[in-house]
Amino acid sequence: MDNTLPKNTIRYCPKCGSSDFLFKEDHSFLCNKCQFHLYINSAAAVAALIVNDKGEILFTRRAIEPHKGMLDLPGGFVDIMESAENALIREIKEELNLDINSFKYFMSSPNEYIFGGLSVFTLDLAYICHPKTFNYIHAKDDISDYEFISPNLIPYNQIGGESIKRITKTFAKKIIHEY
Ligand SMILES: [Zn+2]
Repeated sequence: MDNTLPKNTIRYCPKCGSSDFLFKEDHSFLCNKCQFHLYINSAAAVAALIVNDKGEILFTRRAIEPHKGMLDLPGGFVDIMESAENALIREIKEELNLDINSFKYFMSSPNEYIFGGLSVFTLDLAYICHPKTFNYIHAKDDISDYEFISPNLIPYNQIGGESIKRITKTFAKKIIHEY
């Protein structure tokens, strides 16, 4: 999938429009006309690990590309000038109508996915979250459904993102003996 990488898809300087815009091997570009230096960075995203009182993990079903129809964790991109904590609370409310009582940082995992034919790089920050109640849960926004799955029975081949797979495997191993 090399042809989706920035070095093969970004051709013009975003500042002056010159095509004399060369990829450096450190994930950056340098414009030979205006000397602008563009760095390709990871976008921050959050993922929520939520467990019910039976010890099952809450998954969402994606309604949009990439990975439409596949399993995911609740969460999404951190907006510009937003904190990861705020993004976590906002995304869980938007997707599942859940209010979070407390949360604790768990781990991070890098990811690359193809969006509109281009590679997008993310750093997914996972938090263990405790909702006030599950009473008002319903799927909306960019998810079509949700399901609680036992950590022993997670169908990893149905999880869209590699980073979400890694986070879920690590978390399932940790909680499998706790319930
Ligand atoms: Zn330029």
